[in-house]
Amino acid sequence: DQGRFTGKTVIVTGAGSGIGRATASRIAREGGRVIAVDVSQERLDDFTAEHPDAEVVALVADISDDAKVAEIVAAAGDRVDGLANIAGIMDDMTPIGELDDAVWERVMRVNVDGTMKLMRAVVPAMLAQGHGSIVNTASEAALRGSAAGVAYTASKHAVVGLTKSTAFMYGPSGLRVNAVAPGPTITNIEATFASPLGAQRVRQAMAVLPDAAEAEALAASITFLLSDDGVNINGVVLASDGGWSAA
Ligand code: NAD
Repeated sequence: DQGRFTGKTVIVTGAGSGIGRATASRIAREGGRVIAVDVSQERLDDFTAEHPDAEVVALVADISDDAKVAEIVAAAGDRVDGLANIAGIMDDMTPIGELDDAVWERVMRVNVDGTMKLMRAVVPAMLAQGHGSIVNTASEAALRGSAAGVAYTASKHAVVGLTKSTAFMYGPSGLRVNAVAPGPTITNIEATFASPLGAQRVRQAMAVLPDAAEAEALAASITFLLSDDGVNINGVVLASDGGWSAA
């Protein structure tokens, strides 16, 4: 059967849960070989058990660890057709006046450094092949100031910069680099509310939220950009949010 990912190797980070898991599952069901990456061994075991007939290489790795990133790319082998950079973490909704260095560093390390390190690691293989597709995960917080605290909001704006610069630089070499900006999605992501001001401001903005989507709805948007269906699309930030960003 010819699926959109038949014969292709795709690295998916955050594959143990939520949007990453739904995306990894969809790629596997559409014939792809999936390098499934997560920090949680238990979640990866669960994912692998659910796809007994698929070609899945499960790898426990923190995407902000250079040695682990090298292992991920080595596991992919000679070719890397796609990278779905989905692993990410939330902040505690603090405004900058109350921001803790540890929160800033943790969120930037995973959401920005991790995303950058995997992009940097797959680009040589993609350039050698003359093709490759990368999808990064931004957020509604990449489009507006009201969706999270300052650390998460800044981190997701940085993901947009990583996406656009790379699309611009390597478009002529056959690479496509896009981002998806999920609206509210039902997953295991944890948001805490450490600041009364942050909680009050963000909760007020959340009054106009659309209903939360299933992770599979995000997998549909991500695999669209990742696959050849997205052939003419490069450098975009695709809101997949049920229309929230139009409000
Ligand atoms: P989730 O917590 O359900 O899944 C994220 C997975 O990433 C987890 O299994 C976690 O173990 C893994 N992970 C975390 N840090 C990691 C690291 N350093 N290295 C490797 N794996 C790591 O969350 P989700 O909601 O599916 O989030 C996926 C992405 O979508 C994130 O980038 C998030 O910021 C973004 N997002 C989510 C929403 C939402 O409403 N759920 C909205 C906007 C954007």
